[in-house]
Amino acid sequence: MILPMARAMRPKTFSDLHGHQEIVTALKSILVPTLKHQTFLFSGPKGIGKTTFARLIGQTLLCPNRSENNDPCGSCDICQAIQNGQYSDFLEIDAASKTKVEDVRDLVSSSFSAPLQGAYKVYLFDEAHMLSTHSFNALLKAFEEPPAHVIYILATTDRHKILPTVRSRCLSFTLKPPCDADLEAYLLSICAAQSINYDIAIIKALVQNSDQSYRDLLNLTQHALVLGQGALQGELLQNVFSAISNTLWDRLWTAVVASDLKNIQDCVRKSLQQVGPEQFTKQLLLSLAENHILSVEDRAILYISLSEIPRLMSAHPDPSVLVEMQLVVATLTLAEKKNENLS
Ligand SMILES: [Zn+2]
Repeated sequence: MILPMARAMRPKTFSDLHGHQEIVTALKSILVPTLKHQTFLFSGPKGIGKTTFARLIGQTLLCPNRSENNDPCGSCDICQAIQNGQYSDFLEIDAASKTKVEDVRDLVSSSFSAPLQGAYKVYLFDEAHMLSTHSFNALLKAFEEPPAHVIYILATTDRHKILPTVRSRCLSFTLKPPCDADLEAYLLSICAAQSINYDIAIIKALVQNSDQSYRDLLNLTQHALVLGQGALQGELLQNVFSAISNTLWDRLWTAVVASDLKNIQDCVRKSLQQVGPEQFTKQLLLSLAENHILSVEDRAILYISLSEIPRLMSAHPDPSVLVEMQLVVATLTLAEKKNENLS
C-alpha cells in the first residue's frame, strides 16, 4: 500500500527526482524533440522510481508546457491526470493480474486505435516479469512494429524473467538502489521543506529501516510523524525506530560462531553508529534471546558474559569500547568451550 506521504512526495517533474541523472539525460534526448524509441524496460528493486519514470515519460511527451530543458511542468491538467492515474491514454497494467495471453492480446489490439486525447498512448506493464511466455510473445509482435503513437514501458524487479527477445527490443534502464547517504539527504530535504523538527539519530534510524527504498522510507516517516505528533523527535520514536537491522544481527552472530573477531568489531561499530551503547546493549540481549544461529547452549554461555555489560558500563569511560571488548571476550569464551568439548 502506498501511504499518502509517498504519493504526495512522488516526483512530478524530472528535477524533483533524486539521483538517476544519467538516465534522465538519456531519456530526454530520446523523447524530444522527436521520439526516437518506443519500447522501454525499467528494472531495479521495489520503491526506487520505475513507475515514476514511466509517468514522467508520458508527461514529457504530452505536457503542453514543457520547460526549455524539456522537463514537463508537473502541474497542468495533463501532468496531474497522469500523476493521479486518471489520464485515459496512459494505461497502467498490473501484469501480475493480467498474465493471460487473451488480456495481453486485447491490450495490444487496443493500442492500434488512435489516442483519445493527445498525440500518444502510453502502456505501462508493471511487474512485467509476471507475464507468461505466450503473453510475452503476443507483446513481441507489437514491440517489433509499434504504431507511431504508442509507447510501451515494462517495469520489473526481475529483469532476467523478461523474455530475452522482448528485452532485446527495449531500451533498457537499470535503476540502482539509493545508498544511505542519498536517503538521508532526501529525508533531510523533506524535513527542511516541510519545517519538520528532527533528531538526526531518528533520521538515521528511519534510513536504516527503509530497505534502500524511497517509498518505504516515506511510509516509515509518515508512521513516525504520527507517533511523534508531527516531529521526528523524542524517546518514543528513538525506541521504536532505532532498531538495528536483522541482517546486521545475523552477521554479528555468524561472526561470533566463526570467532571472526574482525567481523565482530565491524558489526559492533556499524551498530554503534546507528544507536548509542545503551540501546545497543538492550537490543543485543534481545537479539541473543531470539537468534536462530547459535545453539541454546551457546546462547546461555554468551548471555552470562554479555549481561555484565550494563553493570560495567557505568564504570567504563567509553561504553562503546567496552561493549566491543565484552563481545570479543564472550566470543573467545565460547570458542574455548567448544574446543574443550571437542578434545
Ligand atoms: Zn504539464
